[in-house]
Amino acid sequence: MSSFRIAAREIRIGDALEPCRNGAVLVEAGRIVAAGPDATVPRPEGAIAIDLGAATLLPGLIDAHMHTFGMPSTGLGALNTEREPYRALRAAGELRELLHAGFTSARCLGSSVGPDLRRAIDEGHIEGPRLVVAGQFISSTGGTWDAPPLPSSWARGHGAIADGADAIVQAVRERARSGADFIKLGLSKGGTRDRYHAWGDDPFGQVTTYSVEEVRAAVGEAHRNGMLVSAHAIGTAAVNLALDGGVDIIEHGYAIDDATRDRLVDAGKIVVTTISQLYFHRAAYDEFGYPQWERDVYERHWQAMRRDFELGLAAGIPFALGTDLIGRPTHPLASAAKEFELAVEWGMAPDAALRAGTIVAARALGLADETGSVVAGKSADLVAIAADTGDLAALASPVFVMKQGEIVRSAV
Ligand SMILES: [Zn+2]
Repeated sequence: MSSFRIAAREIRIGDALEPCRNGAVLVEAGRIVAAGPDATVPRPEGAIAIDLGAATLLPGLIDAHMHTFGMPSTGLGALNTEREPYRALRAAGELRELLHAGFTSARCLGSSVGPDLRRAIDEGHIEGPRLVVAGQFISSTGGTWDAPPLPSSWARGHGAIADGADAIVQAVRERARSGADFIKLGLSKGGTRDRYHAWGDDPFGQVTTYSVEEVRAAVGEAHRNGMLVSAHAIGTAAVNLALDGGVDIIEHGYAIDDATRDRLVDAGKIVVTTISQLYFHRAAYDEFGYPQWERDVYERHWQAMRRDFELGLAAGIPFALGTDLIGRPTHPLASAAKEFELAVEWGMAPDAALRAGTIVAARALGLADETGSVVAGKSADLVAIAADTGDLAALASPVFVMKQGEIVRSAV
């Protein structure tokens, strides 16, 4: 494995992403061994010199919430009839694009093919980000992901349904057996008359799907296996259920009251943003002929998510950036950098957005000691953009990407 000495006009160093002008990074055996002002970084013989010129070098980007369904985003209702080899191959193509877009790590929040994709990437058969995967979701009967048009036999057949503490413990053990890295629980859904079951027609009208005893059973068994637990939780009741149950990471986490927001801040709970999911639905309304009722649902969620993002920023919630992208045609994984732009548009400072999509996201992945910042000892996961870091639109077209010390792409 080659050694590299990478110089750039600006490097963002450490968990604070401190700007270092005229900096350099030394990479040996896939790891960062030194980073700092150019004059302080050794020039060992044999290290390949890369000069990124006026570019800014950042830690590799991390999408803390995405999916490897490997299905057309407009056809998820056919998950029960599509074959898994096709789904894995289709997802592999998009994962390669995600890596080339500068995302050296990503967290899959639910897909039965996720663990095998992670394995194929780790073994070098296909190109993709370092994946941290949930495997199949865990849902109660009629819970977040158990609703028509998918037949109940499908979710059951895939072990996605678990009711009661004993069944949930077994489901967690099955995830561990199948190679999942963490557990994804669905804790909120729409009411029985809602047309959009999983997200609910009204973000403030969500109902919960599990008892606190069931959530605690999942968390206890996951932690015993060294796995973190993430919860799909929209609305005050579901977020409090997640907190009471000891869940580690909150996905979406909006449409909540002030007391719940304070609880999240006091507990230092990471909330994963997922703005892009709604952004790309809204962008697709006309081209893909979304019915009016569905547009109305997304509009209500968009308003609630934006309101709570702004309130959460002011309160001090540690947001991690996650896109909830699910694939082409409406939600291409390669568009993941949009989340940075959207977070800034909604009031996050550019440097805070960079941290939310690198070091904070690495915490959500349980990999903060391994990646997420340019620090000696960490994996050499790096991305360079041809602009200063005030302009996060440049993240959409990185000029250099390195994953675990291997050059993925280089325009220099
Ligand atoms: Zn998701």
